[in-house]
Amino acid sequence: MTTPIELFNTLSGKTETFKPMKGSEIRMYTCGPTVYDFAHIGNFRAYVFEDLLRRVLKLNGFKVHQVMNLTDVDDKTIQGARSKAITLAQFTEPYIKAFFEDLDQLRIERAEHYPRATEFVEEMIRLIETLLKSGHAYERDGSVYYSIKKFPNYGKLSKKTVSGNMAGARVDQDEYAKDEPCDFALWKKAAPDEPSWPASFGCGRPGWHIECSAMSMKLLGASFDIHTGGEDNIFPHHENEIAQSEGVTGKPFVRYWLHCRYLLVNNEKMSKSKGNFFTVRDILAKGHDPGALRYLLISHHYRQPLNFTLDSLRAAEKTVRRLNDFYVRFTEAETSTAAPKSAVRETEKAREEFRSLLSNDLNMPEALAVFFGWMNEANISMDRKILTLDGKQAGLAFLEDFDRVLAVFEKDPAEVPAEVRQLVEAREKARAGRDFRRSDELRDLIRQAGFLVEDTSKGVKVKKL
Ligand SMILES: [Zn+2]
Repeated sequence: MTTPIELFNTLSGKTETFKPMKGSEIRMYTCGPTVYDFAHIGNFRAYVFEDLLRRVLKLNGFKVHQVMNLTDVDDKTIQGARSKAITLAQFTEPYIKAFFEDLDQLRIERAEHYPRATEFVEEMIRLIETLLKSGHAYERDGSVYYSIKKFPNYGKLSKKTVSGNMAGARVDQDEYAKDEPCDFALWKKAAPDEPSWPASFGCGRPGWHIECSAMSMKLLGASFDIHTGGEDNIFPHHENEIAQSEGVTGKPFVRYWLHCRYLLVNNEKMSKSKGNFFTVRDILAKGHDPGALRYLLISHHYRQPLNFTLDSLRAAEKTVRRLNDFYVRFTEAETSTAAPKSAVRETEKAREEFRSLLSNDLNMPEALAVFFGWMNEANISMDRKILTLDGKQAGLAFLEDFDRVLAVFEKDPAEVPAEVRQLVEAREKARAGRDFRRSDELRDLIRQAGFLVEDTSKGVKVKKL
């Protein structure tokens, strides 16, 4: 039996029991990077958070269908391309490649789709046409704006009101004429030397907000389960996504909005001018372990402040080493038949508690406390040589759950690429299900990729051929 999943929904301001719209399949959208530079570790706090969410949902038996966009056209990418006198695609491509490399370094599971904004401009134009027809949008001087007073629910996510705390807020960075300061651009008139697309309302390019509405609804439907992002996305970006999407469809856009708190570095908000700005590459270039960076980001509660320092990274490195030493010791431990009744029940209880704490709004700090408590007990039983075979099997099952979420164990010291690891996992599953034909096919695929898989008494080993 799985425990119900509780998630804090920014929309209601409450923790709610999560119920997917369709059976056990979850449709989820994550605001991805604007590919004008390398993403910084603050961005990756949010991406590690959505990875955790995804893994916990899967651990609970859900199927996750996730879309993460790549913003490859906006003011910053256009400016970048222009300053180097190259095309937009030439400018963004290396950053897209770098982004995926960083995802792999941090062992962030791949989403099912990574749509690029430039490939969905047709969909954006169609949404804007509908908004113009319904009167939610208006055209000024070749640009199109969303009139937020035409959407009475504007502010329902961020709890801001037009007359109150929204007045004077910088909703958009553009300097074009518009009726109200809070209105935001859906479409920006073509400027010389800028990429532009033809549309019935004039040649131009999309605003940032409409990109996410178009890509999410095209790939996930008019209404879907979960939308995630960093807390700085709540206003105006996500508020605008709701106004655009619900303005077009009249249906609730998203049921659960989840937001991760931003990362502080040396107790300050990261900024290039303060010298506390780090990309993943900066951290790795200093010789730090990407697994430790992942662990540091994932081990704090996603809605709690997290202050990154190089000392905290070094502490995470020690913890990751300790976890891996334990992993090797436990998987290789001899079991005893002479031992008294083993701690199977205690291990199963700890494993259940670990899962149920994660299901409770991803309570990682407490889940980790349960794991470390169990780990101490397991070390004691290994010291006393009283680990039994069933105790060890229960422990291995717990370790598997742990690593499905944390992804922190170095299962093989040789560098095994992610695709090969996936094949090995699929093969283990096939073997567990006694599907030996499939398992042999997978063994061949692994061999073709240059690796040898061996079944030993101490588990599966993968070697480079
Ligand atoms: Zn977005």
